[in-house]
Amino acid sequence: MGRLRTIEDLGDLDGRRVFVRVDFNVPLEDGRVTDDLRITASLPTIERLRRAGARLVLASHLGRPKGTAHDDLRLDPVARRLEEAGGFGVRKLDEVTGDDPRAAADALGSGEVLLLENLRFDPGEEANDPAFADALATLADAYVDDAFGAAHRAHASVVGVAERLPAAAGRLMQREVEVLSRLLEAPAEPFVALLGGVKVSDKLAVVGALVERVEALLVGGAMAFTFIAAQGGDVGTSLVERDRLDDARGLLSRAEERGVVVVLPEDVVAAAKASAGARKQTVRADAIPRDLMGLDIGPATVEEFTRVLADAKTVFWNGPMGVFELEPFALGTRGVAQAVAGIDAFTVVGGGDSVAAIRGLGYEDAVDHLSTGGGASLEFLEGRDLPGIAVLMEG
Ligand code: ADP
Ligand code: MG
Repeated sequence: MGRLRTIEDLGDLDGRRVFVRVDFNVPLEDGRVTDDLRITASLPTIERLRRAGARLVLASHLGRPKGTAHDDLRLDPVARRLEEAGGFGVRKLDEVTGDDPRAAADALGSGEVLLLENLRFDPGEEANDPAFADALATLADAYVDDAFGAAHRAHASVVGVAERLPAAAGRLMQREVEVLSRLLEAPAEPFVALLGGVKVSDKLAVVGALVERVEALLVGGAMAFTFIAAQGGDVGTSLVERDRLDDARGLLSRAEERGVVVVLPEDVVAAAKASAGARKQTVRADAIPRDLMGLDIGPATVEEFTRVLADAKTVFWNGPMGVFELEPFALGTRGVAQAVAGIDAFTVVGGGDSVAAIRGLGYEDAVDHLSTGGGASLEFLEGRDLPGIAVLMEG
């Protein structure tokens, strides 16, 4: 891979308007931001540009408005949280393009910050419509992309604007690419991948890529049941992607060929349904009673995963080990989080729910990197070229 262009490559930014694509796609509840990781993660880039005297036009998507305005997906709560976290004023606009943004961008002073409305209110964003990209590009003289979480999408603000202006990666984008490249290219060994969560079909491709690179693969969460079922185990009513059993078998045999240790749960915490009051019991993972579903990894599995993690020099973790949102099924995720936080290794956690889980437990400072991009980090680790990164490369 070539070199990413950085803010330094853009030269003197004093008095220049810079379009900054950020990923402020944060969770909201009752009009308040409930997790501001993605906002604080872009502050180094914003501060760097403000110190350089740039005039900042920030833009982000939020949720899935599908090309029309939705009042509950406006960026006003995001603007307020950015002001609190950054300690500077943010002028929030109610439009994405048009006369108002144009005039506001022109009126910006050095170091001042403007935030456009949700990019996805305009159908041109996801369609990478040339006229929409043109309109965004007229708001600035240079482009900085800090939206790693959107880098796998060839959208107008990600690719189109980058093609129309001198373009570079922001600090967060640089760090994400640096960390994930290290996992792809030169991980210290043993490299252990810890995978869980529910989206088996979304994640099989990355499992396939990781099987070629790791020494051990630990599989928990609902994902484990597709593998256990593929080996003929009884998984009761646990979530299984039946149309992926062959893929799962293929991955297991490839792992065996390469000598990769695959550890599936030996015990699970099961209940009739995923509810906080459900009566739970710990059972063998391949002999789950017919009417029960596995909702967390059991204590013996936590112990085994912890033992394998203790020897690791590089760890990538994606996906919680159980339904950690419910206290009775949070012990597995808590146990492995503690293990990952406690080892002397290069540790990277990616995936919205896994990152939320590790932050909720207070371990964020004990891991080396929390990736702000779930899907993007997985596609990157598959070894795919992400359009939003390709467009920022030198040459
Ligand atoms: P991430 O966001 O970290 O990539 P996913 O979105 O794939 O992770 O999965 C997170 C979800 O998986 C959580 O909401 C959690 O409740 C659920 N989950 C984990 N284990 C199980 C399980 N055994 N059964 C059902 N859901 C599970
Ligand atoms: Mg998720």
